[in-house]
Amino acid sequence: MPTENLRVLTSASYAGPGDAGRTGSWRVLRPVIDYTKCAPAKTGKPACFFCWLYCPDSVVSKTLQPQINLEYCKGCGICAEECPPKAITMVEESKFSGADDR
Ligand code: SF4
Ligand code: SF4
Repeated sequence: MPTENLRVLTSASYAGPGDAGRTGSWRVLRPVIDYTKCAPAKTGKPACFFCWLYCPDSVVSKTLQPQINLEYCKGCGICAEECPPKAITMVEESKFSGADDR
């Protein structure tokens, strides 16, 4: 059977930052990165980035010091769970004062 005219169709989607919408004030836990433990921040080499890879809302930057956009972060904790050196801690929102911390 000739195959040259066959095409494989697949579905593909890419989440964009904040595709799930702004978080608002309901987040209970906030991820905080300890850059003294974070691999790229420590070594100055672009490696790891599991937090960027696994964040379901694509709100972590792929930078030497990964930044989390708290405007959209849902506080799910996946980044903290997947971070190999456990550089991310989920901290109760009540520990931060006011909206200026976002
Ligand atoms: S997963 Fe952890 S160690 Fe890796 S880039 Fe993110 S914060 Fe840094
Ligand atoms: S807590 Fe969840 S939404 Fe927030 S940065 Fe981590 S993985 Fe992304």
